[in-house]
Amino acid sequence: MALDADIKAQLNQYLQLLEGEVRIKASAGTDDVSHEMMSLLNELAEMSGRITVEPAVLERTPSFSVNRPDAETGIVFAGIPLGHEFTSLVLALLQVSGRAPKAEQSVIDSIKALKGDYRFETYISLSCHNCPDVVQALNLMSVLNPGVSHTMIDGAAFKNEVESKNVMAVPSVYLNGEFFASGRMTVEEILAKLGSTADASDFSDKEPFDVLVVGGGPAGASAAIYAARKGIRTGVVAERFGGQVNDTVGIENFISVKYTEGPKLAASLEEHVKEYEVDIMKLQRAVRLEKKDLIEVELENGAVLKSKTVILSTGARWRNVGVPGEEQFKNKGVAYCPHCDGPLFAGKHVAVIGGGNSGIEAAIDLAGIVKHVTVLEFLPELKADSVLQERLYSLPNVTVLKNVQTKEITGTDKVDGITYVERDTGAEQHINLEGVFVQIGLVPNTDWLADSLDRTRFGEIIVDNHGATSIPGVFAAGDCTNSPYKQIIISMGSGATAALGAFDYLIRN
Ligand SMILES: Cc1cc2nc3c(=O)[nH]c(=O)nc-3n(C[C@H](O)[C@H](O)[C@H](O)COP(=O)(O)OP(=O)(O)OC[C@H]3O[C@@H](n4cnc5c(N)ncnc54)[C@H](O)[C@@H]3O)c2cc1C
Repeated sequence: MALDADIKAQLNQYLQLLEGEVRIKASAGTDDVSHEMMSLLNELAEMSGRITVEPAVLERTPSFSVNRPDAETGIVFAGIPLGHEFTSLVLALLQVSGRAPKAEQSVIDSIKALKGDYRFETYISLSCHNCPDVVQALNLMSVLNPGVSHTMIDGAAFKNEVESKNVMAVPSVYLNGEFFASGRMTVEEILAKLGSTADASDFSDKEPFDVLVVGGGPAGASAAIYAARKGIRTGVVAERFGGQVNDTVGIENFISVKYTEGPKLAASLEEHVKEYEVDIMKLQRAVRLEKKDLIEVELENGAVLKSKTVILSTGARWRNVGVPGEEQFKNKGVAYCPHCDGPLFAGKHVAVIGGGNSGIEAAIDLAGIVKHVTVLEFLPELKADSVLQERLYSLPNVTVLKNVQTKEITGTDKVDGITYVERDTGAEQHINLEGVFVQIGLVPNTDWLADSLDRTRFGEIIVDNHGATSIPGVFAAGDCTNSPYKQIIISMGSGATAALGAFDYLIRN
């Protein structure tokens, strides 16, 4: 496989940045993927005198490890890291060569402090936009801690392994042979899962805030920046900084930016907030809100934060269909991200539940990869835009079932079918298939607020045009509110409104 001119030019530039020797050990066979892998590795060695390639016997063939001249790093790529994993390959080469990783010092210290043996394996697909973050985080941990090793495994090159382990969602991470986690994760989230996370005592000496923002998506980031620019004491508590933007591929309606990608926008949000004096408390989940003299927000770890005003911007999450089998077969055939997990169902029969825009977009996308797609819509008509419906109906391998109610997702150790009821006749039907993509919209992350403030019957926080809620001093913004439209730019605007509303409240009280 010859690299195309663009990739070669990019690689050439990156390889100039290598700071020391890199020893690649390659385990190759006589199969096509091995040939392609060896030609990629030989091209790398030709492009940089600092890279050497030598044959080796590794656990998987084809695969290669990326090492320092004097020590193995534990970083292995099984398959060919091109596509979305190209950056993972480049970063591994640079970091192994001695180039300092772009990570916060506290993260580097936490990685170095890990004790024990951590043998990570991550199953990926080259079209998965969520996978590189996980691969890069685990490679970084391998570079920094000799007790950590990490193998990236391309599911398409190791189909038997994927089948035998029933891997049906990527990225799927295994630790010391046991399932560890699935889906996009930052290095901080992985560290937290390994037990290296802040406890209540780390928050005990925090002075009350003027504005405490709960949620770190577009709304929360915007609220924090607007508040901090007023020179008032601002904090942000966020479970997953960036929010839903992390799960978005292309963004074309963020006005003034013609095209960007979710992870890039999420990183810019955080970078922008960090420009200001904002106390960012990541990987923390709020579980209770109570108005006393000050407003109290309790975190899952037991810490209680106090603030004169609070801005709730906890956004929304995928809505579950709530039928038997959904929980049981999550990542075993039940999926939510067609971009990520679609390739694992190549050549198979899948269903998409939901006939709105996201469902029909998913069905069109999947029809190009899988053998057959069945769309199940509860209503008598699809709700998607007509242009999407036209495209859907033009595809030969799609069946649309309208006016049907999903009853159960069936299977033993993985999905083997779906049972639905025809709503007009009451007749029950079953289809044998291997995957179910749930695309029925979003639900606001407001359950934790219970009856503490007024919400709509859908759980959305009711706000006025200053972003104020039913509790004086508590404001809300973004997808968790009763705003009729849920979009990035709208969330950002409402975050700004809520921050200005909170500031106004502070100067009047
Ligand atoms: C697949 C997909 C594609 C999309 N594409 C687009 C697009 O192209 N253009 C567009 O404009 N919009 C798009 N959207 C919608 C857009 O992402 C949302 O409208 C926007 O992210 C909402 O921002 P938010 O800050 O209100 O909430 P979110 O982005 O949901 O952020 C919520 C934040 O709150 C945190 N949080 C939640 N609960 C708690 C808790 N209890 N304690 C602490 N923190 C908590 C979360 O971790 C997160 O940090 C897309 C959404 C999805 C899912």
